[in-house]
Order: sequence, then C-alpha cells, then structure tokens
Amino acid sequence: MDRQHLKQLVKEVIIEMTKPEIPIGISNRHVHLKQEDFDKLFPDEAVKKKKDLKQPGEYAAEQTVTLVGPKGEIPNVRLLAPLRSFSQVEISKTDSFTLGIDAPISLSGDLSQAVEVTLKTKEGSLPIKGCIIAKRHIHMSEQDAEIFNVKKGDLVKVEVDTPQRKTIYEDVVVRPHKAFVLEMHIDTDEANAANVSPSTKCRII
Ligand SMILES: [Zn+2]
Repeated sequence: MDRQHLKQLVKEVIIEMTKPEIPIGISNRHVHLKQEDFDKLFPDEAVKKKKDLKQPGEYAAEQTVTLVGPKGEIPNVRLLAPLRSFSQVEISKTDSFTLGIDAPISLSGDLSQAVEVTLKTKEGSLPIKGCIIAKRHIHMSEQDAEIFNVKKGDLVKVEVDTPQRKTIYEDVVVRPHKAFVLEMHIDTDEANAANVSPSTKCRII
C-alpha cells in the first residue's frame, strides 16, 4: 500500500470513528405561512410564540388551522414560524389518505409537484397549492458536513437502532447550513414504522 492510499484509509477510519450520533426530530403535520396568507386566516393578529424548536430561530406558534380535503378534515394543525416568503403545508402519508389528496414526497421548499389543500380558521378559509409530504432530511452545520464528509443534497443511509424495529432509512437528504444544528427530521408515519421515540438517536452508515 502506497503512502497516499494509506493516508486516505486513515482519513476514512477517523471519519468513521468520530462520526457523532444524530438526534431525531419527529415532525408532526404543520403549516408555514407567508404574511399575506396569515393575515387572511388570522386578521389583526400577530404570530404568538408557543415554544422554541431545536433549529435556531424556529418556533411553534399558538395559532393552528384546520386542513380540509375532499375526503376529510384534520383540526389543530400547528403554524410554525417565523413567517416565510411562501406558504407550505407538510403532512404525512396517512394524513393524505384522511384528507383525500395525493400529496407528493418532496424536499421542503420544492412546491413544483405540491397539491392543493384548504386551510380553515374561525376567520377565514383559504385554498393553498402547497401541500407536500416532506422528504426526510438531516439538518447540520457546515462543520458537521465536513465531519460526515457529505455535501448539500447528498442522499445518505441512516440506521436507527430501536427496540424490536431496527431500521435503515435510505434516501435521506443532507441539508447543511451555517445556522442549522444536527438533527434528522422524519414524519410521524416514518417514526412509528420504526418505533422511534424522541430520545432515539441514529447514525449515518
Ligand atoms: Zn427539517
């Protein structure tokens, strides 16, 4: 084995040995709203903070909406804030059956395939063509991306060692950003299928 080869191998072993475990955030169904849509659903209100989320600056609001589809309704769907430049509704596959809509599995922010769902509050009702099932992803800092030897948009395999339902997720998108902290986001269907609890940790394999 030549020197160059050996160096590469040592680097790979070090990466493998120092890779931190990744906390899991289970995302329940939620909505993001742009100001204009917020004002239609909650006239003369300000966004009220309920609790901070793990990603810095992100929080759950006191406000909730009801999702209305052709087959059913889902009440008490939480608004996540701060408000964004576009409105987006994130549901699970199970929710899509309840509502009777064929929502695509898309990366958050990609609404090219998004379907319509109606948001309802006491004050108003608003159809939004922005409903998706969020593709599972890992938030991480740019420093984490170096440690894991991955870059933005990479698809990785992640192993979760849960009681009775040890699972490997494929197609997990890497999302490095300087403001992000390390956390994999999956939805409630994915978490339940693998018996994941809020304290479960996982690792990239
Ligand atoms: Zn996320």
